[in-house]
This record gives sequence, C-alpha cells and structure tokens, in this order.
Amino acid sequence: MGLRPHLSDGAALSRDQIEDNFADLTPALTHGQAHAEAARCLYCYDAPCIRACPTGIDIPTFIHQIRTDNLKGSAHTILSENILGGTCGRACPTEILCEQACVINACGEEPVRIGALQRHAVEQLMARGESHPFTRAASSGKRIAVVGAGPAGLSFAHRAAMLGHDVTIFEAKPKPGGLNEYGLAAYKMANDFAQREVEFLLGIGGIRIEYGKAFGGDVTLENLRRDFAAVFLGLGTTAVNSLSLPGSSLTGVEDALSFIEKLRQAKDKSGIKIGHDVVVIGGGNTAIDAAVQAKRLGAQNVTLVYRRGEDDMSATGWERDLARTNDVVLKTWSLPLRFEGDGAVGTALFEKSLLQDGKLIGTGESYALPADLVLLAIGQKLEPLDGVAIANGKIKVDQDFQTSVPGVYAGGDCIQSGEDLTVQAVEDGKRAAIAADIYLRGL
Ligand code: SF4
Repeated sequence: MGLRPHLSDGAALSRDQIEDNFADLTPALTHGQAHAEAARCLYCYDAPCIRACPTGIDIPTFIHQIRTDNLKGSAHTILSENILGGTCGRACPTEILCEQACVINACGEEPVRIGALQRHAVEQLMARGESHPFTRAASSGKRIAVVGAGPAGLSFAHRAAMLGHDVTIFEAKPKPGGLNEYGLAAYKMANDFAQREVEFLLGIGGIRIEYGKAFGGDVTLENLRRDFAAVFLGLGTTAVNSLSLPGSSLTGVEDALSFIEKLRQAKDKSGIKIGHDVVVIGGGNTAIDAAVQAKRLGAQNVTLVYRRGEDDMSATGWERDLARTNDVVLKTWSLPLRFEGDGAVGTALFEKSLLQDGKLIGTGESYALPADLVLLAIGQKLEPLDGVAIANGKIKVDQDFQTSVPGVYAGGDCIQSGEDLTVQAVEDGKRAAIAADIYLRGL
C-alpha cells in the first residue's frame, strides 16, 4: 500500500508515473496464493465472519470451494448473496467486517484474507466469459422502475429480474455504477472494473437502463407509479454538504467527491492539474480517497484535517495507514475557520478544538495551512424529495424497505438506516426486491 518512491519529491509526474500510481492498489491473488490463503480457513461452525457480512455470504463455503478448485461454485456462493461481490472484494472495509470477526485474529495471526479470496473467485468467473450464472424465473408480466443505477438500484434490479420481473432503471449520469464508478479511488477500481461488473450483472437479462434521466425531471414518482407496478428508489445522497465559512466560494475550494469523479472519468490523469499544497477536510473514507489520490497525482504537501480525534474518524484504520504511508499528514482536533486568497484560495485557517461536557468547542488557538486546493469531504445528504415520508433527512422505510407509499421501495444511502457502505446498499436492494416480489404477487 506504500507510496511509490518517485512520488516523494512532489515534482511534476510523467504520464507513466501517474499510471503506475493509479494502478491496482492490491493486485489480485494468483491461483497459488488463493489456494494457500484458502487453506488457512478453519471452516468454523457457526462462522462469525458470516454474521459480520452485511449480505450474509456463506464465507467458509466459498473459501472451501476455492480450496477444492471449484471456482465457479465459489463465485456462485458469493454472488447469490451479493451480486456486486467483485467490487466488495476490492473495496469493502473487510478489516471492520468479516476479517475483523475471523477467529484467526484470536491466535495473534492475520485473519484470512476474505476480501481478496472473494475478489479472486468472482473475477475468475467473469474472466471465463461464460453465460450468466443465474437464470430468470418465468415472467411475472410485471414492470418495475428503479431510480438510480448505483449499488442499491443494481442489486434490486438483478434480484427483481431473477424473480421474473422486467426492470427499467432511470439513471441521471451517462454511466451506471453510482459511487462504484464515480466515488471510489481509482486505484481501488482499476481496469474499469465497475463497468465490467455492471455488464456482467446485466447478463441476467430483463434489465434496461435509460441514462440522462434524473429523478425530478421527466422521471417523477407520480409518473413512475402510473407506468410501473412497483418502484425502487436508490437515489443515494447526491447533495453535497457545504461549509458556510468566509472564503468558501474562492476558486480552489472544491467538493472532494467531484475531485474523485474527475479523476475516475479522466482518460489521461496526467492532464489534471493538482495543487502544490492540498488540504482535505473530513474524516471518512472519501476524505482519504481524495487525499491519497491528490498525493499520487503529484501534490507536494497533502494535509487531511479533521475536527475530532483520530478514533472518531469514520475512515478505517487501514485507510488511515494508507494515507500515512502515502505521506498524507493527518491533523486532528481542528475546526475550519475560513479560507483566504485573492480570487483563488491560498491559505486555510483552523482553530484547535476540544470536547467540553461532550460538546466540541474551539480553543481559541488558531493556525494556518498554505493551500492552493481545498477539498471538502464533509458528507452528502438527500436531495429535497416530495411524495414519500422523510425522517431525519432520509427516506423512511419499514422492515421490508417499503416507503410510506405502498409499492414504492427504497434502499442504500438514501434511507434512514443507510450506511455509507456498498455492501449494505447491495443488501438493501436485494431484500427490497424480495419484498417487492411478494407484494406484486399478492402473497
Ligand atoms: Fe474461516 Fe475465519 Fe470465517 Fe472461521 S472466521 S470460517 S477461519 S474466515
């Protein structure tokens, strides 16, 4: 995960150097490595790793299938619970999910590399180019609309298609994948994996995607309810939180997700200008993705600033280590005060913070950081939405992922319990599709 040597001088990087810096962060296991890793699994009865996986993949079984050279069966075990198991094998924070629960940790050893094994099984299946591993049930004659081709919407669509329904997805952007395509660091999703995975998913048949169709334009809830038997809202949280601070509108004060999207969509990343001094504000994995990519693009100084302590950051320990090994400086207990510059940002000012009676307050001690690019990674929220009940800024759903409107379901980041995890969005979509199927069949 370390910094490539040629990045340390911060000089302008060549195209080859940048390509190298954005190559696959953790290359796929070889056949021999996968075998050896699978052999470490104890195939626990009542395996805790299964309970720690939001999609409930039968982990010991798929690992055993790798060990016995049944890669097709292994991929089937994974994909039957998580159709985006390839992305999750690459980008899931396994260190706080299945791998944290692995019993081998208790022996003082590294846990089984479940994520890497999962990736191995799924990618081997995809590389074979065989027919799609699942077949559709007999047609139900029902049409379902899905809004958003992100992880929740795609997972819903695949399961609904499998259950015999015809699905139309309405997607605002020109490509499918949601955050898998637009919001994860390029080195986590190298070789256009998000698009290849969607292509594989669509192999089930019965799913059509209409691009450039944003919710709220022609695509209204009213129209969808009129034209389709059920609706799934996988809207994500696309409205970016803003900092109402002096200097927030200066050139060079940008949203971190837009920066990541620009990087992901650039055919030639060497054409992207990066500042000399980059300041990233935030404490989640998006902040780390932005900071590490800024460094790998050639920024000389990258500082990640967070308002609370390191243990309060939602970025995992693995992500924080990745930032440090890429020479990103982490500064905690600091509140942004203002940004200064003549048209373009030149300085970011912060006030040291502390907790007093459980409340975060400024200490009065301030400091300045040189900054020609400030990236804000302070979270997103749901775009304003009418027609369904909203609670705490998110769509309210019941245990079946049904909104306040019968036949309208929702899942992923846009719902009340929405966690910022691809794997949770996949599970939401899957469970909502099963519930919608029961609803549509009047069972
Ligand atoms: Fe294998 Fe670890 Fe899961 Fe046990 S907890 S089944 S050792 S991966």
